Amino acid sequence: MKLTLKIKLLPTDEQANLLLKTIKEANAACNTISDIAWQGKIFNQFKIHNRCYYGIKSSFNLSSQVIVRCISKVSDSYKIDCKVKRTFKELGGITYDPRILTYKPNDIVSLWAIDGRIKIPFVCHNRNYLPYIKGEADLVYKKGKFYLFQTVEVPDADIADIEKFIGVDFGLTTIAYTSDNVEFSADELNKYREHRQKVRSSIQSKCTRNSRKLLKRLSGKERTHSSIVNHTIAKQIVQSAKSQNKGIAIEDLTGIRFTSKRRNKKFKTKLGKWNFNQLRAYITYKAQLNGVSLVVVPPTYTSQTCHSCNNIGKRTNKVFKCTNTNCKVDTIDADYNASKVISLLAGSINNPVKSTMFCSLHSLSGLKPIRSLVGG
Ligand SMILES: [Zn+2]
Repeated sequence: MKLTLKIKLLPTDEQANLLLKTIKEANAACNTISDIAWQGKIFNQFKIHNRCYYGIKSSFNLSSQVIVRCISKVSDSYKIDCKVKRTFKELGGITYDPRILTYKPNDIVSLWAIDGRIKIPFVCHNRNYLPYIKGEADLVYKKGKFYLFQTVEVPDADIADIEKFIGVDFGLTTIAYTSDNVEFSADELNKYREHRQKVRSSIQSKCTRNSRKLLKRLSGKERTHSSIVNHTIAKQIVQSAKSQNKGIAIEDLTGIRFTSKRRNKKFKTKLGKWNFNQLRAYITYKAQLNGVSLVVVPPTYTSQTCHSCNNIGKRTNKVFKCTNTNCKVDTIDADYNASKVISLLAGSINNPVKSTMFCSLHSLSGLKPIRSLVGG
């Protein structure tokens, strides 16, 4: 599996100047290459190379390999759309490959800069991934600091063939509720957000240039906070599944336009703007890294079905009520019930015998099994 590792560089002032010069020179070269490509209407990397390599080499202070990367970057940019001329920002990120960037012992990176290679110390918070560094890295200058966004290729752990799954239900007043009866409540988070909202409104009312700057900084801070919350939840769910030797089952919410009553209700709450896609993405990659199988089940009926008797019951806000008088379930937390249904559904998708149980009650068309063993 490919991941991107964020590495912070700690250059001296002199090295920082060299890096800035290098970034500017490379982007200037990209703009010249883009001019030539645009005028000649040639967008293929090989053809651009033939047309302009020697010209660029003689007019810019860049190594051959950096020029090759620049040409590739320009060509890639026209792959997206060749009807508009591409321009490159003076301080935009530039790409390095292993020929111009190598990692040395003791957290030192050696990379090419104008005037030759420089060795810079770095820090990285995910050290476990350092042995898997492979391929390209982007050198990015952001708010006065330099980062490398390095590609790493982590081997997938063997995914066990599993029958039992922890079902995870997203939304409403809880961010996530699992069939193990673990609740990731949104209370704390909503308090934090309400507080933030107040701070923001008071700043907004001032409407000065500084206040706009401050707002921008605050929104960045909030994004970081939500991303940490999502990381923590995903980590706990995956670790719990791994320790119990179970898989994880989540609902397939892609392609759903939130038009049905249930969806509206579920997502128009305070958590309406919560980044569930990010949470799902974190669960997915952490599961894959840990060899935990992940099954995506169709969302139809999960919130209305009783986990015990499979009857369609009634869901009112936080409470699910089973209408089957013979069923032992009377009322249950609606999210908890949904997570249990998701868990059972995942088990039945993986087990044809059990699946008849569900099929007999609900039409199969709505229950198309999607087994997405990530990467498998
Ligand atoms: Zn029931």
